[in-house]
Amino acid sequence: MNDTEALRRELLDKLRILRNNCEGNKKPSIISLLRTISKYACEGKIEYLLGKPELDDPNERFDLYYKLKSDFATLKILDLLKSRLSADGLNVTVLTEMPSETGRYDVAIIQGDPCEVYTANAEKVRVEIKASQGLDFEQLDRYLWDSSPLILARVITGHVAKLRPSKLKPYVRFSLKELNTKVDRLLSGKAHNIPGKECTYCYNVHCPHSSNRDRSWKTSSIITMSDAEFDNDLNMFFQNLSYVAKRTVSLIIEELDTVPMITVSRLNKGRE
Ligand code: SF4
Repeated sequence: MNDTEALRRELLDKLRILRNNCEGNKKPSIISLLRTISKYACEGKIEYLLGKPELDDPNERFDLYYKLKSDFATLKILDLLKSRLSADGLNVTVLTEMPSETGRYDVAIIQGDPCEVYTANAEKVRVEIKASQGLDFEQLDRYLWDSSPLILARVITGHVAKLRPSKLKPYVRFSLKELNTKVDRLLSGKAHNIPGKECTYCYNVHCPHSSNRDRSWKTSSIITMSDAEFDNDLNMFFQNLSYVAKRTVSLIIEELDTVPMITVSRLNKGRE
């Protein structure tokens, strides 16, 4: 086991303890815990939020408009990938969940966040499609814990990048160590309160700094925009989508080309 994997396992073990310590019958998921711990600097706020219902489904507050755009872009990109690979005579499938064995296909794509692309039972590359302007850096950070390359497509700005966790190991170790230390403080009751801008949207009334809260603030699942912003957003989306799809598919195939595709194809045909 390498040191990154050891740090990751250590973190997950601590998160399981933290989750079990959460009050109430409905425990948050490990991912929800991680999102909250990574999102806030103030550990008093994190402690307060542990076990609160909003930890259970952070996507509930994600505007459906962006999710639908992202799903649509993903569909277009996977369609193009299937066409390109099938044209090369490869047996391609898109699945919604991981079967016990992906090896009977030359290429198996597991749809999800991120999508995973397999050849011969090995994950070769992952693909994350973003349709909103923002980027979730906590999520990106977490994606770097796995070893396969991550292709990030940001449709609205027409950007496609490939991140190679193997080349970012020093950062991944640094990030995992810091998260481990933060969770240690939460587990030992030594959380650091950090008064500042996070107080504006904090409901921790037991904290002496809670008077800094903006009392008119309410959460909303709707991200509002003007007609001009909506117009621009939609036009940019459709203007960029074909370029982003082609670039993303080229980068995926670049990764798949590192395995002898035709040999894999022939071997699989022999098994049928
Ligand atoms: S009020 Fe401010 S300092 Fe207190 S827990 Fe909330 S964010 Fe932290």
